[in-house]
Amino acid sequence: MTIVENLIELQDVDGRIRELEIELKDLPRRKALETARLKGVTADLAAAKAGQEYVTQRVKSFEADAQALKDKIRDLKTAQSGLKSNKEYQQYAVQIDLVSHDLETTENNQLAAMDDVPSVEKRILEAQAKFDAEKGGVDAFCAEIDARIADVEKELAQCRAERAEKAKLVDDPQFMLYYERLRTKRWPVVVQLTHDGVCDGCHLVQPPSVAQLVAANAKNGVEGKPQRIVACTMCGRILYDI
Ligand SMILES: [Zn+2]
Repeated sequence: MTIVENLIELQDVDGRIRELEIELKDLPRRKALETARLKGVTADLAAAKAGQEYVTQRVKSFEADAQALKDKIRDLKTAQSGLKSNKEYQQYAVQIDLVSHDLETTENNQLAAMDDVPSVEKRILEAQAKFDAEKGGVDAFCAEIDARIADVEKELAQCRAERAEKAKLVDDPQFMLYYERLRTKRWPVVVQLTHDGVCDGCHLVQPPSVAQLVAANAKNGVEGKPQRIVACTMCGRILYDI
């Protein structure tokens, strides 16, 4: 294997590492987007629960008022039964009548408030069902993402180990340094010089001298002689010919 061939093998592994790293960055973002979809149904469910709480409290409040009025009537009746004068008895009877009227109004209000209970309960059931359905879908999706993250991390570890091995095979520090410096700025770093004499990275036509150097490098490779770095005059990528 020539130095350029070894470099291309290293580049193949680096390419896979780049893909995996991008995917690993993207996966949590996709998960967050999916989870954000739950916000709407969560808010609907909370609103439905708040609505139910309001209706329940209203019913309870009328209930308490009615009980207080009933107690008052009972007390008035007890006091009335101990009275001696007819006049006082009549006064109490009027009062009892007034409070009884209030009680009737309050009990009517309580019944009206109770009419709202079925609709708020229905709303909760609907909101809960919608939430459960949506949550089920989101949970399943997130579980898939988590599984994918684990797979990508595993493959990335394998690729990095493989990279270390491939890098050892590029036993020319100059090539290695050049490659390592360029790979953060240009990708891929090692590209073919096409038969039209064009850099396959930036598509600039190379001067004939570059094409000659590339051809000489290929010949050296076949003959087992040392190869040198031939770079694109525009983008600096390492050019090769097979
Ligand atoms: Zn180029």
